[in-house]
Amino acid sequence: MWFRRDLRVDDQPALAEAAARGDVVALWVADPHLLSASHHRSPVRLRFLRACLGALDEELRALGIPLVVREGDPAVVVPEAAVEAGADLVHVTEDVTPYARRRDLAVESALGDTGVRFRAVGGPWRVPPGDLPGSKGYGYLVFTPFFRAWDQVPVANRIPPPDSLSGPSLASDGLGALPDGDPPIEAGPAAARARLEQFIRSGAVDRYAEGRDLLADDGTSHLSADLRMGVLSPAQVGRAIGQGRGDTASRDAFWRQLAWRDFYGHHMARNPGVARAALKPAFRAIEWDDDPVLFEAWREGRTGFPLCDAGMRQMRATGWMHNRARMVAASVLVKDLLVDWRLGEAEFMRGLVDGDPANNNGGWQWTAGTGTDAAPYFRVFNPVLQARRFDPGGAYVRRWIPELAGVPDRFIHEPWKMDEQTQRDAGCMIGTDYPAPVVDHALRRDEAIARYKDADVRWAATAEAAA
Ligand SMILES: Cc1cc2nc3c(=O)[nH]c(=O)nc-3n(C[C@H](O)[C@H](O)[C@H](O)COP(=O)(O)OP(=O)(O)OC[C@H]3O[C@@H](n4cnc5c(N)ncnc54)[C@H](O)[C@@H]3O)c2cc1C
Repeated sequence: MWFRRDLRVDDQPALAEAAARGDVVALWVADPHLLSASHHRSPVRLRFLRACLGALDEELRALGIPLVVREGDPAVVVPEAAVEAGADLVHVTEDVTPYARRRDLAVESALGDTGVRFRAVGGPWRVPPGDLPGSKGYGYLVFTPFFRAWDQVPVANRIPPPDSLSGPSLASDGLGALPDGDPPIEAGPAAARARLEQFIRSGAVDRYAEGRDLLADDGTSHLSADLRMGVLSPAQVGRAIGQGRGDTASRDAFWRQLAWRDFYGHHMARNPGVARAALKPAFRAIEWDDDPVLFEAWREGRTGFPLCDAGMRQMRATGWMHNRARMVAASVLVKDLLVDWRLGEAEFMRGLVDGDPANNNGGWQWTAGTGTDAAPYFRVFNPVLQARRFDPGGAYVRRWIPELAGVPDRFIHEPWKMDEQTQRDAGCMIGTDYPAPVVDHALRRDEAIARYKDADVRWAATAEAAA
């Protein structure tokens, strides 16, 4: 059993099937390609991953076998380990990112040379992409019809962990390829289940519809990193909340939100090109400024737009950012600073403990208006209005930007509007303690719309010429 994004023993179809056939070796591969790819060089996520693998090792040992770690190219080390173990079959949970697909084809082919078969069972999503082909057979580009179809698929019954496991013992390289150190949140299946139980027992799931967008209340589940690593399955979440139907409107809202994860996963599985370029071809040729000074200000949380800066600082401090702040920070980068969304996407992948190729790409393309969002590109978030609506008292902004702690409520989201005396009273001089906005939102909004329009017109002309 080769573990990848399914680091648990409970509700684990691939492990259950492997165990039902006889002896099992549990393998995890420290793949240098993945660990050194710029997208994946994320100390915070790798520390979390290491702690999840440690917890998986404990769970497996309790059942009778350790986790064997091998460093190297999976197309080399998986067949080697399989031959050493005398295995006839390598089980995996399916993965669908473009790299995962290339890797698995290479591993399957190398295994074939040694007479070992490769079998993918289950996947990281609640519903496999192939089960929701859509009316035209190529899946869904719009979320609402996707959700309607997805919601019709019942939540699968639990697959209990094997009673015990046994198998040949193989040498392990250990987890030295991953950075050591405390993960930002407790890691492993038990910690994930405790987070899920707390979300339900505290009543947060029943307040989710109103609470999920209030930045200071932090009314969301914080399960994203657990789902990312597969220490928790989406079906486990579905069973625990009673799958929405017949429960509260808030549970329905939470269930619907969870469906976005499958939506973006399916989307990337069917359209792997989105990992590199805009889904909408017209917007592949937008002229970005990519100003390095503005990009650095955004990364460090110094744009002068408090909600955007608070989000970026939350991510730097904790490895997690509230969804509303992710949307606003992404929008400021793309539509105000005119920086290519792919640079922001990569920065989030480096900074987020839950950084996930499909969800992150989907979120960025949605916000940039280049992907699955049905709203037109000229609808641009206003960072001040968003902040007033979702952080009305400014508590979130004050928590992450201590320089603004003393700023009166009415200026908290536009501190540059304070007069000099108010700045002095608030202990925050604009331009010294906290920056004025690095760009003028109204002007840049118009500029962004003009650039999108220009790309759209050029694309239409090219398409017409080619027809
Ligand atoms: C620009 C941008 C980048 C993002 N990057 C990521 C990422 O790398 N990894 C990631 O897991 N999510 C990403 N999201 C989606 C969302 O922000 C996070 O899933 C959410 O904030 C995680 O917190 P939570 O677990 O408390 O969420 P909850 O609100 O409790 O939601 C429960 C679960 O549903 C899923 N989910 C919720 N919202 C979304 C969504 N919009 N898209 C996809 N799945 C969703 C997540 O698995 C989440 O854990 C991104 C959103 C944006 C706008």
